[in-house]
Amino acid sequence: MNKQYRKETICIQSGWQPKNGEPRVLPICQSTTFKYESSEQMGRLFDLEESGYFYSRLQNPTNDCVAAKICELEGGEAAMLTSSGQAACYYAVFNICEAGDHVVLSSTVYGGTFNLITCTMKKMGVECTIVDPDASIQELAEAFRPNTKCVFAETIANPALVVLDIEKFAKAAHDHQVPLIVDNTFATPINCNPIKWGADIVIHSTTKYMDGHAMALGGCIVDSGNFDWSAYPDKFPGLCTPDESYHGIIYTEKFGRAAYLTKATTQLMRDLGSMQSPQNAFLLNVGLETLPLRMERHCYNAQKVAEYLEGHEKVAWVNYPGLKSCKYYETAQKYMPKGTCGVISFGLKGGREAASKMMDLLELAAIVTHVADARTSVLHPASHTHRQMNEEQLKEAGVAPDLIRFSVGIEHIDDIIADLEQALSKI
Ligand SMILES: *Cc1c(COP(=O)(O)O)cnc(C)c1O
Repeated sequence: MNKQYRKETICIQSGWQPKNGEPRVLPICQSTTFKYESSEQMGRLFDLEESGYFYSRLQNPTNDCVAAKICELEGGEAAMLTSSGQAACYYAVFNICEAGDHVVLSSTVYGGTFNLITCTMKKMGVECTIVDPDASIQELAEAFRPNTKCVFAETIANPALVVLDIEKFAKAAHDHQVPLIVDNTFATPINCNPIKWGADIVIHSTTKYMDGHAMALGGCIVDSGNFDWSAYPDKFPGLCTPDESYHGIIYTEKFGRAAYLTKATTQLMRDLGSMQSPQNAFLLNVGLETLPLRMERHCYNAQKVAEYLEGHEKVAWVNYPGLKSCKYYETAQKYMPKGTCGVISFGLKGGREAASKMMDLLELAAIVTHVADARTSVLHPASHTHRQMNEEQLKEAGVAPDLIRFSVGIEHIDDIIADLEQALSKI
């Protein structure tokens, strides 16, 4: 949108802007392909000489409207949707890393991302060094190598709830001439804009709060446009030297600030094909309309639950960045003054055994693999999402064996607390 609206307004009004007589609501372009009248025009599209739709594996109008809305919310230059958060993580890194390259990775990232980078991408020849998100700038500096191509971390780590000092990580990355990629899934653009603090690329699993109703898998990559790839042509040959698969175009020369995202669309989507379905993009857009309202309620409820648990005699510890007792309280206040997220972690005095007993006793809160949607849910990462990790890796990821991840929904707070109360009274 031309005018600088507030986020609540962007969530409702941005993206699809109908012209006279067009549908008020974002239409689902349920079409794999697009029609043209001249063969020459189609040729120009293929050569990236003209912009336009030709095949939904690369771009689709429904998806583009939703990506544009997220881009505006994050304050970015360009954005694309992907089929899942995992695809967004993969493309964001792989767009600038190839065999022989190296990534600096925060130890507390989501289990799926940890696996992707430490195991799967390792098989593709990309090495990584794992760093403690609390490391000092000097300690971080030691992780870099001449072949390092990016730094990857999460605004609020899932499920460790470590709050990232984004400025510190951005400085470490930029001191070594590489971009900082931040996974902003838990904070959402409503509570934090990592680009404002120096992040270069922001990614999301839109499956979580953005969709918000546990209906549609999806991901998103937002490029700030701020990183100057052309200043380091030897480091980023994929962006700064001719692409043979497009008759030798040079992304930085042809697309400027949108070079990174154009390459991810035209090359990675074309060849690897993890496009979000237009149906899912439509659902995501519906979710985005109420994101600010929901985040406010998630944060309000989570704060109440965290305070309740902290005062309970059977609870050993509670971790929530909104608690003054939390190690990350100050960092959260700096980067997310409006609130962090609806996810809390805690442990019981009865340890791992009490944890699984309590989970079975909960009635309102359901055991699901999902987090961050409207319904209150609960999970035991050591036995579920992180079960492929050994004790040592769990510790590094900030996941205690007794950690219960409690994702506070937007039901009435009294009902959520009553459910916890009845379960705790029986263990
Ligand atoms: C869930 C999640 C992912 C993976 O997203 P999917 O949409 O499940 O593929 C990545 N990062 C974070 C922080 C997540 O919570």
